[in-house]
Amino acid sequence: PDSHADDDADAGGLRTPIVAVLGHVDHGKTSLLDKIRGSAVTAGESGAITQHIGSTAVPLDVISSMAGDLVDPTDFDLPGLLFIDTPGHHSFSTLRSRGGALADIAILVVDVNDGFQPQTMEAIDILKRTQTPFIVAANKIDTVPGWNPNEGEPVRVSKEKQSDRVQGDLDEKLYEIIGQLSDNGFSADMYWRVQDFQNNIGVVPVSAETGEGVPDLLTVMMGLSQRYLKEEMSIDVGGPGVGTVLEVTDARGFGTTVDAVVYDGTISEDDEIVVGGLDGPIVTEVRALLKPQPLAEIRTEKQFERVESVAAADGVKIAAPDLDDAMAGAPVRVVRDRDVDEVILEVEEELAGFEVSTAEEGVVIKADTLGSLEALSGTLEEHEIPVMRAEVGDVAPRDVRVAETAGEPINRAVLAFGVDTLDDAERLADQEDVEIFADDVIYQLIEHYEDHVEAIETAQQDQILDNITRPARFQILQDHTFRQSDPAVVGVEILAGRIKRNSNVALFDGDEPERVGHLKSIQDEGEDVDEAGRGDRVAVSIDGPTVGRQIEEGDELWTELPEKHAKILEQELKEDITGDEREALSQYLEKQRNRDPFWGK
Ligand code: GDP
Repeated sequence: PDSHADDDADAGGLRTPIVAVLGHVDHGKTSLLDKIRGSAVTAGESGAITQHIGSTAVPLDVISSMAGDLVDPTDFDLPGLLFIDTPGHHSFSTLRSRGGALADIAILVVDVNDGFQPQTMEAIDILKRTQTPFIVAANKIDTVPGWNPNEGEPVRVSKEKQSDRVQGDLDEKLYEIIGQLSDNGFSADMYWRVQDFQNNIGVVPVSAETGEGVPDLLTVMMGLSQRYLKEEMSIDVGGPGVGTVLEVTDARGFGTTVDAVVYDGTISEDDEIVVGGLDGPIVTEVRALLKPQPLAEIRTEKQFERVESVAAADGVKIAAPDLDDAMAGAPVRVVRDRDVDEVILEVEEELAGFEVSTAEEGVVIKADTLGSLEALSGTLEEHEIPVMRAEVGDVAPRDVRVAETAGEPINRAVLAFGVDTLDDAERLADQEDVEIFADDVIYQLIEHYEDHVEAIETAQQDQILDNITRPARFQILQDHTFRQSDPAVVGVEILAGRIKRNSNVALFDGDEPERVGHLKSIQDEGEDVDEAGRGDRVAVSIDGPTVGRQIEEGDELWTELPEKHAKILEQELKEDITGDEREALSQYLEKQRNRDPFWGK
């Protein structure tokens, strides 16, 4: 049990600050969390560290025994730190409490060798936007060539033991990171030189591999929280619990449950609660509150222990009826002595705080939390991609059914962010010609969809081109009349563009265009062909004219362009036809416009 929860049960209390770990991929977020958990287990011996649902609590006494001289426990009255287990800025930015970030404080992990990378920048932007205090863990110091590890030691102690050269190399890398922070508008320094953590970012050199610097990291986090977050950590411990759903899962024997982080008050068995759901607030009653068995292996989900109540901040699995439609990212609120309608209204307001706009016609989007749905919808809006339906959860057959109703082929699509696609949804999509795009990175998801749209549009354009008459100019050769009429058969040379079978032939008498007949067939050296291009000399048969009357040897002929086709060609397809066709087109337009300046406009 968490001793801190019961200390001042009925008075105001201080809750555990919630910590999130952010940073670029492979910079060591997961390793650092594992190391903190691992070291805390060792330091706590009797298992004082508790694995919570979706989070890990490290109590103050464990931190102080790990940190040794660095921490005097009497300096602190915050109960410890609660780490959210899923690292990354996705979970950070999509998990919220009352419109703010769920995490109170963050660790930005930066690989000392790599420095700032794209996701480091993204994380910085998010931290700025949410005004979340953070410190930088400059990770992988053990990889500095020549480094002699000192397992789990405070970093300054270990650093002192390194050769001058190794220390110099490390300093150089650290100053690089400090410089990059300053380029981004943060005044930063080595944590031991920072006096005012509110206005300066402390950089803590660490190794998630050897645990060096981990005591420092925990100490700085504690200090920072104690100093600057204490007021926000003051809660009414006995008050009705408030939390955020991390995940909606099935738990054997309990049906659909929600994993939540409670960040205010207390939640108890039999409490009436209101949970944000797909179709609005769900009012239900807590059947059981579950926590992992104390000695259970990390991440074995099956063995739960029932607890009567939990107080903020804490992670807990809530079993209750009617949770099937609960949404990750949505609020959970205990009703207790209040009017249930009032609580429903609060939950509705919080749900309304997520802005996802939908249109009559558009794509279907799915995401893992409400916050990520909002992020995806926002980015789609920037890309001017309309959304018809937006929901939290895996891609299910009914999503495909909705997408299938879209009129435009480009809208017959489901964009899934950070969720799975159920097998039957996949099958249905195949059948119904609906495309499902799934990715864990928003911009990649959108990129794939945009590629798909482009492919559809190109295909549509090709189809238009196939049905549109293409421009061509050709000339009847001297002494190449093979047949006078019915049909006339003459030798021609193509001067520009391509001629095709089954097109109308025109010539200009002065400025007046005249249709002279219908081009029935083309022969190239005795073989029937469908078309011929610039420079080709071929025999053509033309129904209608008689050589010597309507047409003469030496005449310049044109493929007759319907005015509408000429307009589409000039205004929309100019880039899609060949240079040679463009030439024929502009000559044709010029002739027509000599007579009528507005022809084809
Ligand atoms: P994440 O993507 O940020 O969660 O990064 P991981 O924790 O998965 O780490 C990426 C890789 O870096 C793994 O191979 C880790 O073993 C390695 N790694 C992480 N931290 C350290 C460290 O402090 N020192 C060394 N040598 N390797 C590390």
